[in-house]
Amino acid sequence: MKKIFLAVLTLGLLVSCTEKTKQEPKKQVTTIDISKTDASKMKAKLNQYAKVPLTTDLSKLTAKEKKMIPLLIKAVQTMDDLFWYEAYGDKDALLSQIKEANTRDFVALNYGPWDRMDDNKPILASFGEKPAGANYYPKDMTKEEFEKSNLVGKDSLYTFIERNDKGELVAVGFRDKFRTELMKTSSYLMQAAAFAENSGLKNYLLARAKGLLDDDYYNSDALWMDMKTNHLDVVIGPIETYEDQLFGYKAAHEGYVLVKDMEWSKKLAHFVSFLPELQRGLPVAAKYKQEKPGTKSDLNAYDAIYYSGEANCGGKTIAINLPNDERVQLKKGTRRLQLKNVMQAKFDKILVPIADELIDPSQRKHITFDAFFANTMFHEVAHGLGIKNTINGKGTVRKSLQKYASALEEGKADILGLYMVMQLHKKGELGGDMKDYMTTFMASIFRSVRFGAADSHGIANMVRFNYFKEKGAFIRNDKGTYTLNYEKITQAMNDLSSLILTLQGDGNFDAVAQLVKDKGIIPAQLQKDLDRLSEKHIPVDIIFEQGVETLGL
Ligand SMILES: [Zn+2]
Repeated sequence: MKKIFLAVLTLGLLVSCTEKTKQEPKKQVTTIDISKTDASKMKAKLNQYAKVPLTTDLSKLTAKEKKMIPLLIKAVQTMDDLFWYEAYGDKDALLSQIKEANTRDFVALNYGPWDRMDDNKPILASFGEKPAGANYYPKDMTKEEFEKSNLVGKDSLYTFIERNDKGELVAVGFRDKFRTELMKTSSYLMQAAAFAENSGLKNYLLARAKGLLDDDYYNSDALWMDMKTNHLDVVIGPIETYEDQLFGYKAAHEGYVLVKDMEWSKKLAHFVSFLPELQRGLPVAAKYKQEKPGTKSDLNAYDAIYYSGEANCGGKTIAINLPNDERVQLKKGTRRLQLKNVMQAKFDKILVPIADELIDPSQRKHITFDAFFANTMFHEVAHGLGIKNTINGKGTVRKSLQKYASALEEGKADILGLYMVMQLHKKGELGGDMKDYMTTFMASIFRSVRFGAADSHGIANMVRFNYFKEKGAFIRNDKGTYTLNYEKITQAMNDLSSLILTLQGDGNFDAVAQLVKDKGIIPAQLQKDLDRLSEKHIPVDIIFEQGVETLGL
């Protein structure tokens, strides 16, 4: 879910990480030859990403906060080389061989020679497929060998699996592998802590500085959940396990430096208090809405001012939901972070150009950032509505719907997000014209179907597009633009909400499979319309210009 996805890039000019200590991974190539054709193809690939600066309102920062930010950025930058090593291996050896600038930039953007937005296809012909286990396991290790091994710590989030001189598997902790780099990270966090005026933030930074050296994040995760009034925030460490496609065991290093939007965060806390009432009003039979949504979850808006490591590769995330440690979740809940300036960038660079191409001119005035922000934010909140456990003893919805679980859950969050907006708007809690929210919602469908059928959000949006079409929620004009029918879209929203909640509550795997088969597709006509977006070079995602200079510090 962290991948509400998508999700930048600047390579730290830091010490080349690590691998001085242990055996180097085998170099996959010795020479890289780039023809001219490849260079222009690379340019086109790079152009799929719009470059945007990451900034924030400096006038809201105290003098001490301005001293903390460069230190937090330095700490987070150290994550970059660690992630490079995890994703690929020897970054410098690879990049120094690539003489063609576009290709080098594109490889750097992907933290390795595989295209993350195109199913990890090799960027350079001389590379084969990306190893499923990235660089966390020996390339010659089979799943069977790993499973048979009695190695202690093999399934730890925080170890590499390597071979010793005898060829046996050994586990090497991140804290040992990256000792030199993590000492620096830790030192930067402690220096920043010295300037912290907020005691919660100070305690967290000191605990995180220690946790990184021990590969033990329990205390710092708990302290992070306790922080409520901090203005600055930092997310740093080995966190998500997407990079390990072999077993999903190994965490990847990443970091974000964030500045909380105090005003918006206050509004968000207010909206969360409506969750129980909105749950009761869901447009579905009573038996599917008996669970009580939690109102403890902490929802805040931020400006992101630095991304590094896994957070910065390929597409960029616009929302974060952490921590992942279930022990901390049970005790303290989770925190949802909405990255407002990054959403704004995606809105300006991607959504508006899409709407200018595909939404009927008479309705384009309804495409607004406030609506986009609200829809995205309420998507996050809406994950907390509905039903987590089936009503017929089949266990959790997630378990019974298996591979379709996340697509349906994302589809639910999208549609119930709009439902929440409509209810809060009716109550006068949310300003603006309801048509703004609906039209912007429709344009977002076009944005998200571009993620493709390999992505849960992509599938969810295809299903919704086809469902809306069937219900007459929009029509396609001869000129290839789309006009919304605002009356019918309301009905379609209610019907689709009911359908999804019922399928989830029944844990009806077969019916969901059928729905995805029938509607989780891009009709030929829509594909042609989407092709126009590519022809017009409307970016698919964004990359960042970031750092103290960009901030003007
Ligand atoms: Zn989601």
